[in-house]
Amino acid sequence: SYLGIDAGGTLVKFAFYHKGILTFHKIPSAHMSAAAAWITEQFSGAQLCVTGGKSKLLQSYLGREMQEMVEFEATCSGAAYLLKEQGTNESSYVLTNVGTGTSIHFVQGEEHSRVGGTGVGGGTLMGLSYLLTGHSDYRQIMSLSREGDRANIDLKVSHIYEGAEPPIPGELTASNFGRVLQGSDSSRDADKLACVVGLVGETVTTMSVLAAGKCGVATVVYIGSSFVDNDLLREIVLRYTVLRGAQPIVLANGEFSGAIGALRSV
Ligand code: ATP
Ligand code: MG
Repeated sequence: SYLGIDAGGTLVKFAFYHKGILTFHKIPSAHMSAAAAWITEQFSGAQLCVTGGKSKLLQSYLGREMQEMVEFEATCSGAAYLLKEQGTNESSYVLTNVGTGTSIHFVQGEEHSRVGGTGVGGGTLMGLSYLLTGHSDYRQIMSLSREGDRANIDLKVSHIYEGAEPPIPGELTASNFGRVLQGSDSSRDADKLACVVGLVGETVTTMSVLAAGKCGVATVVYIGSSFVDNDLLREIVLRYTVLRGAQPIVLANGEFSGAIGALRSV
C-alpha cells in the first residue's frame, strides 16, 4: 500500500486509498511522535512519500528514511488533482495555500512557480486570537468568530468618505482594526475574532488578486487547513475576491493537497 504525508508547521496530513477510496487523516505536528506511531501501526509495510517543512523531523521520529518531495511540487500537483476531480476545467490559476503561513503560486498546466507569500496566515489567526481574547482552541475560535460584528473595529472606506462618493467601493476595508480608537463601544470577544479573520482573509485575498493580475489569470484557488470549519474565512475570501474582480474557488479537501501530491508520486 501507499501513503502520502504532508508534515506542515501545524498539522501532519495523510492521504491514502482505503478500499479504493481516497481517504484523509491528520495529526497535530506538536504530536510528532504520535504521528510516527500512527504510521507504524497503520502502514508498516507501505511505501511512503513525505513533503512539508517537518519532513525531516517526522523521519527522525519514525527512524527510517522515506521518499521526499518538494513541498510546492506536491501542493500544486495535489491541488490540480482535486480541481480536476471536482469537475473544474481550470488549467491556469493562482493557487493560494493558507497554512500556518501563506504561500502563493502561479499554475499554468504542468508548470508552476511561487509568486510570493505572506506571514499572515492560519498561525496569525491562532496567535492574534489568543492575544486578543485568551481563546486557543481552533474550533472554539472559529465558531465564536461567526457571531462577531466587525462594525466597531474595522474602518470601511465608506466610514472615511461619510456620505461622499468614494473612488473605490465603500464596502472595502480601509483599515483593519482602524476604528478601535474612533469607535464608541468596547467590543466582545466574538467581534475581535471576526476582525482577526477579516484581517487574515482580506490580506491573503488582496495578495492573491494582485498576483492573479500580474500573472494574467482570472481565477484564484484557495487551499489550506485555515478554511476547515471556518465559514467566516471562506465567506470573506469568496466575497472579497469577487469584489476585487477575480473568480475564487475554495477547494474542498484542499488542505490535503500536499499529501495527495506526495501520494501520487509513489
Ligand atoms: P505550513 O504549510 O505553513 O507549514 P501547515 O501545512 O501545517 O503549515 P495547514 O495545516 O494548511 O498548515 O493550516 C494550519 C492552520 O489551519 C492553523 O494555523 C489553523 O489556523 C488552522 N487549523 C485548522 N484545523 C486546525 C486544528 N485542528 N488545529 C490547529 N489549527 C488548525
Ligand atoms: Mg502546509
